[in-house]
Amino acid sequence: MIKQIAHSLGFDAFGIAKADELTDDARFMESWLKSGQHGEMDYLARNFEKRIDPRKLVTGCKSVVVVLMNYFPSQKQDVSVPQIAKYSYSETDYHTVMKAKLNELDKQICAIYGSESVNNHQQHIFVDSAPVLERRWAERAGLGWIGKHTQLIHPGLGSYTYIGILLLNIETEYDTPIPSRCGTCNRCIDACPTKALKNGSLDARRCISYLTIENKKDIPVEFQSQLSNCVLGCDICADICPWNKKWAKHHAHNELKPIPQIIDWQYNDWKNVTEADFKFTFCHSAILRAGFNKLKRNIENVNLSEAKSDLLK
Ligand code: SF4
Ligand code: SF4
Repeated sequence: MIKQIAHSLGFDAFGIAKADELTDDARFMESWLKSGQHGEMDYLARNFEKRIDPRKLVTGCKSVVVVLMNYFPSQKQDVSVPQIAKYSYSETDYHTVMKAKLNELDKQICAIYGSESVNNHQQHIFVDSAPVLERRWAERAGLGWIGKHTQLIHPGLGSYTYIGILLLNIETEYDTPIPSRCGTCNRCIDACPTKALKNGSLDARRCISYLTIENKKDIPVEFQSQLSNCVLGCDICADICPWNKKWAKHHAHNELKPIPQIIDWQYNDWKNVTEADFKFTFCHSAILRAGFNKLKRNIENVNLSEAKSDLLK
């Protein structure tokens, strides 16, 4: 029944996992954080206990409902213009879209199973917003595997999906995880311009997504010539993945239609955009979160001679 509701709300895939402690992830995260690979993302080190166990995040939590929404766009930027990661193409910030749907899912579940199905005294809906290891829960809920590029790959959708989480206080039937199908492939690792991927782990300090969005300082000189024309986020490891080539299909979500300027703007439009124009054009978009100053900084840093890189084709 929960999955039927999720389907009726327009989610593209959904699964449910039993809430439990993520012991392997706890060990991995401890050493990842200790080695400093999270860069300036200090929030990742906070609430560690809650991050590895949703039962410590929400009192009474028994099940983790995971929903996916395909965002693979039918229209894309020309490779010669400053590149914006596809997840932020949409006119409406995906957090807003996903949360509205998850709230409706929550409401309908409570109508059927009773209000005690969720803990209404604590936040129990999450989209990139709290200490929840979303990709791992998606994997546990049978929605795919975490590829060597550290993203979820759904068999049928690929990796261009938003992940949403709803923590339930009731038990239900659980889905079975599926094994990795990366095999001997290393294309994402080889394609990464900054060599940020290693042994199924991401060194965020080297990742263009981090460098162009999270990083508050100047982009280190060693990476300035490696940005591969990416100015907000990076899709290179996802674009190169053979499973995305096989499975990624254009989404049909009206709520996620792209901002026309993202598709139409040429280099000079991006370079010369004023702060007022930026705020007006991207007023409801996820791009606004990165901010005007970072966009400007990144455009100045991008080495446009990299624009013809085969990796972006
Ligand atoms: S997002 Fe870009 S920089 Fe980060 S790991 Fe993937 S290819 Fe490398
Ligand atoms: S490119 Fe290859 S190794 Fe990387 S995630 Fe895709 S299948 Fe796995």
